[in-house]
Amino acid sequence: MERKKLVIIGSGPAGYTAAIYAARAELQPVLYEGFLSGISGGQLMTTTDVENYPGFQDGILGPQLMDAFRKQAERFGTKILSEDVVSVDFSKTPFMVNGSQTSFEADAVIIATGATAKRLDIKGTRDGELWQKGVTACAVCDGAAPIFRNQPLYVVGGGDSAVEEAIFLTKYGSQVFIVHRRDELRASKIMAERALKHPKITMVWDTVIEEVLGDNVVKEVVLKNLKTQAIERHPAGGVFFAIGHQPNTGFLNGQLKTHDNGYLVVEPGTTKTSQEGVFAAGDVYDFSYRQAITAAGSGCMAALDAEKWLSEKGLT
Ligand SMILES: Cc1cc2nc3c(=O)[nH]c(=O)nc-3n(C[C@H](O)[C@H](O)[C@H](O)COP(=O)(O)OP(=O)(O)OC[C@H]3O[C@@H](n4cnc5c(N)ncnc54)[C@H](O)[C@@H]3O)c2cc1C
Repeated sequence: MERKKLVIIGSGPAGYTAAIYAARAELQPVLYEGFLSGISGGQLMTTTDVENYPGFQDGILGPQLMDAFRKQAERFGTKILSEDVVSVDFSKTPFMVNGSQTSFEADAVIIATGATAKRLDIKGTRDGELWQKGVTACAVCDGAAPIFRNQPLYVVGGGDSAVEEAIFLTKYGSQVFIVHRRDELRASKIMAERALKHPKITMVWDTVIEEVLGDNVVKEVVLKNLKTQAIERHPAGGVFFAIGHQPNTGFLNGQLKTHDNGYLVVEPGTTKTSQEGVFAAGDVYDFSYRQAITAAGSGCMAALDAEKWLSEKGLT
């Protein structure tokens, strides 16, 4: 069995940045980019313009940005494998990392498998329909796009993140509607009050979106009231899912400590997980910021933390 100093799992901004730092530190990292688990290159592969990643004053296309990340990681010698990691064994050292086709022993591991925004399977919102043409799952990322300006915008959800996203969108939309299947918000009291008092936010209670209509962009939503079964069509410029994220940790089989919401626990101010020698970077542990720049930043931290740990153990 081949033994590696460092195996990185995940190929989003966090994983590639960890690889760039680790490869330059001559740790000869292996990076599993994923295959069926998600898109190689991570979440930014599913979007168009990224306008808030520093260094690109005119913005850059998500796939173009991730292609540059990948090439930079390869330039310094990262070995990239187009496989999913299906299981790991952290119970003994060196650790075991099992891909769908290859396996390695690893002195240190960085988990950078990201999180998946939950979506509802609503007609008109699927891939190839209006997904990313006015239907999105990230208001902070996409809200400022011109297509949403001065348009009626619909947020789906009832928790704190739905309220936060709705408040954020009031800067851009003409009116923001929170569509919720119940008759009260699950959000914290303070957040719920902010939404209910906001002059640009309207609650649409007991209601679901049945269908999203449009051509190249979203034009209308079809709403169904769950109490009366009444169906209404309304003009809409955008639909934002705000129903939470799922961190991609299934392959860990419970070997690392997680918060109640499933995100990995790290020692504050570091990327150290509950298992010494295993580090976490990006959206797989960060449920607050969830941005490409913060993911990349923590990828850098994880590589530096791993390098320091390997060196302390005499493993570099
Ligand atoms: C539609 C959309 C638009 C966005 N726009 C912006 C924006 O404009 N600006 C911004 O800053 N942020 C934006 N974000 C958020 C940003 O994409 C994320 O914060 C960032 O990608 C997180 O990076 P990450 O490396 O932690 O994880 P991800 O990008 O989620 O990458 C995780 C990687 O891990 C891989 N993986 C998962 N499981 C396994 C496994 N078992 N084995 C191997 N590999 C695995 C996946 O295939 C994926 O490649 C957007 C997100 C979405 C969904």
